Amino acid sequence: MARETGPGVTVRLMKPVFTIVAPVYNEEAVLPELYRRISEVMNPLGDPWELLLVDDGSRDRSAEIIAQLHDQDPRVKGISFSRNFGFQEAVTAGLDHSSGDAVILTDADLQDPPEVIPEMIAKWRQGYEVVYGVRTERAGESWHKKITAKLFYRLIHRITSVNIPLDTGDFRLMDRKVVNVLCQMKERNRFLRGMVPWVGFKQTGVSFKRSPRFAGEAKFSSYRRMIKFATNAITSFSYVPLQMATYLGFLIAVISGLAILAVVLLRMFGPDTPLLGQATTLVAVLFLGGVQLISLGIIGEYLGRIYDEVKGRPLYLSARKWGFDE
Ligand code: UDP
Ligand code: MG
Repeated sequence: MARETGPGVTVRLMKPVFTIVAPVYNEEAVLPELYRRISEVMNPLGDPWELLLVDDGSRDRSAEIIAQLHDQDPRVKGISFSRNFGFQEAVTAGLDHSSGDAVILTDADLQDPPEVIPEMIAKWRQGYEVVYGVRTERAGESWHKKITAKLFYRLIHRITSVNIPLDTGDFRLMDRKVVNVLCQMKERNRFLRGMVPWVGFKQTGVSFKRSPRFAGEAKFSSYRRMIKFATNAITSFSYVPLQMATYLGFLIAVISGLAILAVVLLRMFGPDTPLLGQATTLVAVLFLGGVQLISLGIIGEYLGRIYDEVKGRPLYLSARKWGFDE
């Protein structure tokens, strides 16, 4: 298929070897620069590529800019959601609609430098099916984000059986084989950083320095979002929170068993002092009540997720598409 894109410029659209997927949420200030940097990196490689921008219900002019970029260069394709569904859903839509033999996932804000992509491609050509970006440095991010991120990765490492590589984000290259499996994994409350290692195949990393955002604002800085992200990660890949109720139950049972023994012995052989009454009882009852409520909450967390799965709603709804023949 050939297409006129202005005076004398014909872009031949071949089946792309590479698809670059970028989720977009209120990124109007970044998109033209993203396109420029990606073309600069991808054109010299010589293989056909496409840039797939997934507008996650942006409230700024992002969708318009995607349409413009697509008119300028049909290698830019776009999907626009009917509302904001979230990062994981946007990425999922990108994978579902990608056609390259290898798919590269990157943030739209240029925090993942496109210049690393050729290195990833080189590894892919050596036979690796997943090449993830390992952050050696995070410029322009607050110390508390760095510390919470570090703690989070260490925690995940301890309590899940999937081997999530340390200090990796979503910036990665995936072979078509891996992408196809991911497209079959229709689970809700998705945690892609865990799903990719779960798939297996030959995986490796290339290190890079994470740059500061090119323009605009970060959307994941709020604690609420970070906590949601962390709970998704943990509950998707670990039963440890559920088992904690059991362990805690045993622990408390043992402690109170010993306490009963102590009380009986004191009664029989101890001095004639009355044991502390009401306060002790109250503290014990309240403590147990707290533990029980927490355990119920944890069960509720998993139950809610099962409910989400059972409803089987679509993961995302697209309102408009650019570059896909319907
Ligand atoms: N993003 C999205 N939907 C959202 C929030 C963010 O698609 O609801 C996109 C955003 O446009 C960006 C990427 O996800 O391309 C990462 O977001 P951001 O840079 O705000 O997060 P951070 O770099 O702080 O992790
Ligand atoms: Mg960012």
